[in-house]
Amino acid sequence: MRSGPVRPGFIEHMPKAELHLHLDGVPLGRAAYVSALRTERDFYDLAMAYFRKAASQCIRYAEVFFDPQAHTSRGVPFEAVIGGFHRARDDAFAELDVRAQLIMCFLRDMPAEDAMRTLEESLPYRDKIIGVGLDSDERDNPPIKFKDVFERARGEGYRLTMHCDVGQADSVDHIWQCLDDIGVERVDHGMNCIEDAALAVRMHDDLIGLTTCPISNRRTADGLKADELKLMLDYPLKVTVNSDDPAHFGGNLTENLTAVADAAHLCQSEVVRLMRNAFEIAWLPAADRDHYLAELAGYATQNALPCSRRSAGSPYPPAMAPTTRKGSVPPATSAGSGASGGSLLRSRSHA
Ligand SMILES: [Zn+2]
Repeated sequence: MRSGPVRPGFIEHMPKAELHLHLDGVPLGRAAYVSALRTERDFYDLAMAYFRKAASQCIRYAEVFFDPQAHTSRGVPFEAVIGGFHRARDDAFAELDVRAQLIMCFLRDMPAEDAMRTLEESLPYRDKIIGVGLDSDERDNPPIKFKDVFERARGEGYRLTMHCDVGQADSVDHIWQCLDDIGVERVDHGMNCIEDAALAVRMHDDLIGLTTCPISNRRTADGLKADELKLMLDYPLKVTVNSDDPAHFGGNLTENLTAVADAAHLCQSEVVRLMRNAFEIAWLPAADRDHYLAELAGYATQNALPCSRRSAGSPYPPAMAPTTRKGSVPPATSAGSGASGGSLLRSRSHA
C-alpha cells in the first residue's frame, strides 16, 4: 500500500537502471548455493534468471557484480564463469532488450595477492568486464589493502568501485580511503558518508555515485535507512537505489524503490531523480546515457504528478536534524532543497 504522493504503477513501469546486484550471491556466504555453480551453463542460467526478472521490472540497464574467486577457488575455470555470464549478457540484450555490463569483484577477506592473480586472470577477457569492485567481509579488510590491485586495474582500463557497508566500525575512514587512496568513481552502500560533513561535501563536489540497497539494509543494518537516503538525495548526492542480492533479501528493484518511496514519503519527482542519478553515474557512453535519460524524462513528463506532500516542519528526521546540541533547532526555511550545502550535515553528533 503506497502512502506517498506517487501514482500507482508509476514505479513499476518507470524505465530503470540497477548498479548494485550480485549475480552469484557470494558476499553473503551462501556456500551451498554457490557450490552448485560449476559449468558455463550454470552461470548462464543464473544470469538469465536475473535478466528475465529485470525485464519484467522495466530495468533497461544493469551493471552486475560477480565474484570469480568464489568459483576459481573451487576449481571452476575462470573461463566458465565469464563465459556463462557474458553469453547471458548478450542474450539479455538481444532477447529481452535489457542491456548489462559486468563488474568483477574481489573478495576482500582473501589476500591482496589473490586479488592480483584474479585481476591478471581476467585480462584476456578485459573487453567483457567494465570495471572492478570489492566486496565480502569488510572488518579488518580496508580499501587500502587493495591499493596496488586497484591501481593496476585502473592502468588496465577498468572502472573502479568498492563496497563500504552500512554501519561498519570504520566505514567513514574506509570511504575516505576509497576517495583519497584508491580513486573510486562510486561507493557501493556508503551511507555512513553523511556522518562526516567534510566527506559529504567531497562526495558532492566530486559527483561520487552511491549505490544504496534499502531492503538489504533492513537485514544487515537496522531498517531501510530511508530517511538517510532522503537526506542524501536532498543534499544532493548522486545516490541510487538497488537490490543487492534479491534472492537473499527478498526484493527486486521495484520493491526497493517502493519501500523507500513509502517510508520517506518521496514525491514522484524524487523517485525520478533517484533513477536519473543511476543513469547519470552508470558506466555508459554519453550517447547511450542520453538515450536512457530521454526515455526516463519522457516517462516522467507523461505521468507527471505534482507533489502533494504536506510540509511537516523540518524536512529532516530527528537523528539527522542539523541541531547543535540538544534542543537547539535551526531555522527551517527551505523544504529539502539543500539551500546551504554542508551546513545541513555539519554538527551531527556520534552519541
Ligand atoms: Zn553488495
